Amino acid sequence: MQSRWNDAEAEAMVTRYAQQGVAPDLALRVYTSRLLGRDPRLVLHGGGNTSVKLRVLDLLGEEVDALCVKGSGWDMANIEPAGLPAVRLAPLLKLRALDRLADEDMVRVQRANLLDPGAPNPSVETLLHAFLPARFVDHTHANAVLSLVDQPDGEKICRDVYDGRFGIVPYVMPGFDLAKKAARVFEHDPRIEGLILVKHGIFTFGADAREAYERMIAAVGAAEAHIRKKGTRRIFPAIDLPSRLAGVAEVAPILRGTCAVKDDKVEGAYRRLILEFRASPAILAYANGREIVRYSQAGVVTPDHTIRTKNVPLLVPPPDAANLAQFHRDAVTAAKGFVERYRAYFARNNARCDPPKHALDPLPRVALVPGLGLFGMGRSRREAIVAADIAENAIAVITDAEAVGRFESLPEDKLFEMEYWSLEQAKLGKAVEKPLVGQIAVITGAAGAIGAATARAFRAAGAELALLDKDRKALEPLVQSLDALGIECDVTDDGAVHAAFAACCARFGGVDIVVSNAGAAWQGAVGEVDDQVLRQSFELNFFAHQRVARAAVKVMRAQGFGGALLFNVSKQAINPGLDFGPYGLPKAATLLLVRQYALEYGKDGIRANAVNADRVRGGLLTTDMIASRALARGVSEHDYMRGNLLGREVTAEDVAAAFLYHATALKTTGDVTTVDGGNIAAALR
Ligand code: ZN
Repeated sequence: MQSRWNDAEAEAMVTRYAQQGVAPDLALRVYTSRLLGRDPRLVLHGGGNTSVKLRVLDLLGEEVDALCVKGSGWDMANIEPAGLPAVRLAPLLKLRALDRLADEDMVRVQRANLLDPGAPNPSVETLLHAFLPARFVDHTHANAVLSLVDQPDGEKICRDVYDGRFGIVPYVMPGFDLAKKAARVFEHDPRIEGLILVKHGIFTFGADAREAYERMIAAVGAAEAHIRKKGTRRIFPAIDLPSRLAGVAEVAPILRGTCAVKDDKVEGAYRRLILEFRASPAILAYANGREIVRYSQAGVVTPDHTIRTKNVPLLVPPPDAANLAQFHRDAVTAAKGFVERYRAYFARNNARCDPPKHALDPLPRVALVPGLGLFGMGRSRREAIVAADIAENAIAVITDAEAVGRFESLPEDKLFEMEYWSLEQAKLGKAVEKPLVGQIAVITGAAGAIGAATARAFRAAGAELALLDKDRKALEPLVQSLDALGIECDVTDDGAVHAAFAACCARFGGVDIVVSNAGAAWQGAVGEVDDQVLRQSFELNFFAHQRVARAAVKVMRAQGFGGALLFNVSKQAINPGLDFGPYGLPKAATLLLVRQYALEYGKDGIRANAVNADRVRGGLLTTDMIASRALARGVSEHDYMRGNLLGREVTAEDVAAAFLYHATALKTTGDVTTVDGGNIAAALR
């Protein structure tokens, strides 16, 4: 591990922030916090914090001693001065005289002493920073240090490695008690450069930003050197794998289906997770190991991971491509066992709690699949990515811990204490979840007006999106703005549709909703039109819908928790227009297709519904078509677009709202919703 301190960069930072009135020490505090935050071997997803003690002016213009400490919600990799809120130091120091301080009271005192009342909550490790006298204090959960402290004799190893230069603090959960304990260890020998927190991480101190940072780098470097020297076992002895393994796109929907629980309030609803797949030689060596049960089920590498990944991952057997049905059965058993064990763990530990805790969902957040890799899981893709990052990092830590000795985590009651921390519990139920959170939607013809409006509506409702269009370039801005998966796909090509669904499963873990929207209008008098035109229209306006629905049903049945097939049909299916036979005929067949899917897959919880829209600008209607039709009827374009019973123009957003309704209407199937401003000739009944 090398120091990345650079004098020129540090100076540039001081100069830049001086223009905003930021003190040089705070600018340098930002600089080294970013240096730490940008190395995942040191800091991952909020897993560290830093501080500096400064004299600052309060709102009345009076000088006070303050602790500028990392605020919650800020990521050290791109922290700004505002991410290090200033707290009055004197009141914090007074707290040390107390015997105990509840976490909620600690947060209240910290907030009450913020110099800016609008600043974010100071870190829960604020008091630890405050009680140490050093001007700069850095804290990380560095991988190499964790590999040493997560050992049965971690304390002894650290005494040998750091030879008196670091104080050793036995494990205590973060908060007031840990802050007091750390201060006592420091006072026992104030010459120390920092503290090693058993089963947790490391603190370093410095008179300036560079000293604290470089002490961190040197200490982590020393841990790395120890691992290199003592680490004898680098590769786990592996199990035998089936000769041919199923791929991610096949395994993910099965796994996703097994890692879901029924919503007990709404019949037909499930709590679903999004999956994020990872594989690397290190992950595979770990996942294929013969002793995987022992080292993977021991617990987390540092306690705050438990909130993101739960204490242990789900373990499933390797997926034999020749017998996927067996893998499915094994995965169901494994997931059921996981949920049962989690519920028992909760009941066991909750029995000691007063007041009792609110149970979190019992689903895993990480799954290990020998031969394949790992899946991070979460209610959103973002959460799944965080879980996967942490799991990948934990594998690095445990691999090194096993090379040096034997990985050991905290006992169950300590892990429970962290997972069910009152401060975390207080956040529960406060945020209302969006209606499509945890769901994955595939939208075809997504670059068109209706497709794009539907994509925006679904994303706003919390869904993850796979957007398909034959024009990749036209799709790109939408993909970027909605953080979606964009796939170039001609839905009249069987291979392309198959590949698109596989890509969606590999990216998100499965499919819950399909909006089969791609279509185009062919015209011609039905008694004269060429067969070729009719066949082309049937390819896109009927067979493509069938192809997309068939691919979706396959994934949905593997998941086993239903889904929604939504089709953009057309009023043409009910109310034919002159010369529009080539368009209306396949659409009429598609309307029957919707009913056929509703009939045959209702038992699987799969709903099939249609939206019949008419006269939508940017849909099939181009600007030229609107102009020529208005002219033919002798009305203005404005009146032509409003030529319906309500006299209102139908927009792509109106159509999107109908699709969104059907995506959430769990008791409706085989339905056709008209979005046409009123057209009695096209009314269904
Ligand atoms: Zn920590």
